Amino acid sequence: MVNKVALQTLGCKLNFSETSTIGNQFTNFGFEVVDFKEKADVYLFNTCSVTENAERECRQLVRRALRLNPKAFIIVTGCYAQLRPEEIAKIDGVDVVLGSKEKLNLFTLINDFEKKDLACVFVSPTQELNEFGKAQSTDADNRTRAYFKIQDGCDYKCSFCTIPLARGTSRSMSPEDLVTEFKQLIKAGYKEIILTGVNVGDYGAAHDINLYKLLLKLVEVPGEFRIRISSIEPNLLTDEIIDLTAKSSKMCKHFHIPLQSGSPKILKLMQRRYKVSDYQNLIEKIHNKISDVGIGVDVITGFPGETQHEFLETYEFLRKIPVSYLHVFTYSERPDTKAITMDGEVDVFERKRRTNMLRILSEKKKHAFYEGMVGKELEILFESKNEGETIEGFSSNYVRVINKFDNTLVNEISRVEITKITEENLCAGKIKGIQKSIELIAC
Ligand code: SF4
Repeated sequence: MVNKVALQTLGCKLNFSETSTIGNQFTNFGFEVVDFKEKADVYLFNTCSVTENAERECRQLVRRALRLNPKAFIIVTGCYAQLRPEEIAKIDGVDVVLGSKEKLNLFTLINDFEKKDLACVFVSPTQELNEFGKAQSTDADNRTRAYFKIQDGCDYKCSFCTIPLARGTSRSMSPEDLVTEFKQLIKAGYKEIILTGVNVGDYGAAHDINLYKLLLKLVEVPGEFRIRISSIEPNLLTDEIIDLTAKSSKMCKHFHIPLQSGSPKILKLMQRRYKVSDYQNLIEKIHNKISDVGIGVDVITGFPGETQHEFLETYEFLRKIPVSYLHVFTYSERPDTKAITMDGEVDVFERKRRTNMLRILSEKKKHAFYEGMVGKELEILFESKNEGETIEGFSSNYVRVINKFDNTLVNEISRVEITKITEENLCAGKIKGIQKSIELIAC
């Protein structure tokens, strides 16, 4: 009889990419990977430390799994497991806790999947998290776009963040391996590769290369594809990367650049590596070089010391600058961070009110950005998952476009004239014919 395993991921794209690798390892060992809602012999949870109430969430998942199969073998891994292994080991029904280093070596550590009376804990100290753990690329949209992990860990010391503790120091995939795997993804038919990591802009130091030099290699790979950088710290988004993005049709005209706060005082308390004025200059520079560029921003509300004054500074700053959408996070206290010791705690209800205000601002900004696209022609990569009446895809500058379903559009980059914005805040348009190749403009 084939054993079944169900895997559940919490958190970021990097975790999804790693869960995919673990799933493949199970398949290689003869397991069938099934949906988390199904009865399985083994359940694995790849957790996140950023999630609020990580422990409660983990407990609930374990209980749900054991309701489906009381004899199931339970494995918990991921950032939360790295940071709080003892807490997890105490949860009834957990058999194994694996740290960040151990999660991709599961089959060398676990010999049998028989339930235990006490949980086994395999968690290396954070200072030993210094090797790059290769992860399988994961599908973003049904074999159209792929998340490709190229970097892990972070050397920064943002005062609210536990990621450096959970994932260790910054390290990267070697450029040789990376280019080989990148070519394999293109060969497999992916038309958009999303470069992911904890701090992607920090790619390469130990390999004597940087993100810009890597991108130069990747845009030279033959084939029809485009490259998107999942997120990049503002201080690492160099003029060279902006110029390459402006000139190469293989680079998506889109950046996601965390700001976190538009208040100089809060930014300093957060120990971020740029000033508000640097961020503003960067956004202006990008717009001067790349027309119709899409820019996304991460922002945190309710950081300690953020009074109404500092919040309104952030709000006004974001209202003014030409960015196309915001990802808004409500600050929550994390053990072992510097921020948890800071004065000026913001009432939780007030934090949420500020989050709502920024989410409304984000909707307005997105709508305005989409409106600016009406009448223009964009290159849309349509995805294959909508096989009903409509098909959706993203433009290079990250505009979501919806059209009538047409099989010939699936996984093709098509020129679309944007004609209107739908009620769901999507763009709709006229297809201008399928473009079979994208030219690289020499830099
Ligand atoms: S850059 Fe800052 S927020 Fe991002 S992972 Fe590193 S420490 Fe955390």
